Amino acid sequence: MEPKINIAIDGYSSCGKSTLAKAIAKELNYIYTDTGAMYRAFALFALQNKLISSEERDVPGLIRSLKNLYITFRYNPDSKISEVHLNGQNVELEIRSIQVSNHVSQVSDIPEVREKLVKQKQRIASSRGVVMDGRDIGTVVMPDAEVKFFMAADKQVRAQRRFDELMSKGVETTISEVLGNIEMRDEIDTNRAADPLRKATDAIVIDNTTLTLEEQFEFAMRQIDSAVSQIEKKSLELSDSVEQ
Ligand code: C5P
Repeated sequence: MEPKINIAIDGYSSCGKSTLAKAIAKELNYIYTDTGAMYRAFALFALQNKLISSEERDVPGLIRSLKNLYITFRYNPDSKISEVHLNGQNVELEIRSIQVSNHVSQVSDIPEVREKLVKQKQRIASSRGVVMDGRDIGTVVMPDAEVKFFMAADKQVRAQRRFDELMSKGVETTISEVLGNIEMRDEIDTNRAADPLRKATDAIVIDNTTLTLEEQFEFAMRQIDSAVSQIEKKSLELSDSVEQ
């Protein structure tokens, strides 16, 4: 049986991290975890409880509210994904709104928030056979992941793709609003003090500006297959040397 590895996918906003992660998880029958959904769920909670608004945020209130926060994933056999639940309620659709996108970086840069969610992410990763996407996966959550990808793409291309996706879901927005949101999140995510978005030194860069989904998937699977073969080879060498 092939060894189960962990795969970390980090990168800028709207680079198609979750599309690639889901395809890999499906191919390998691994667990897929969308860690952005956890921060989005907390941002939704904060908006519902008036702890953040466009003008201000109540950091002590946000930190206090963490003890009443239960974010869980439950597999939905119809959508075939693990959907995020906030205190028992399915919020998978609500967390994708532009309003949540506009506020999520206001909660994700708070060290106490990160500490709680990093622990939860590490508990999920400990089962192995996990594909996890986010901003701090290869650097903080699972620095020992066997394969790490860092995704990038031209921001105009990213904005167009995200705009098309939102339009297909009936969300009213404009390209400039989507582009503005991408720029703002990249800026905050890259420059925050706590667990900023960084390429892990051993991560493989995938710039998918001109790649098709198939090309990107095939490239990623080749890297994964080669990592798995190397692990198998090493463990064979080890068992040979023990027998001798
Ligand atoms: O991946 P997604 O775009 O849904 O993530 C939403 C936001 O959550 C990001 O812009 C970032 O602020 C935050 N995030 C994070 N660390 C992660 C995943 C997401 O800070 N591992």
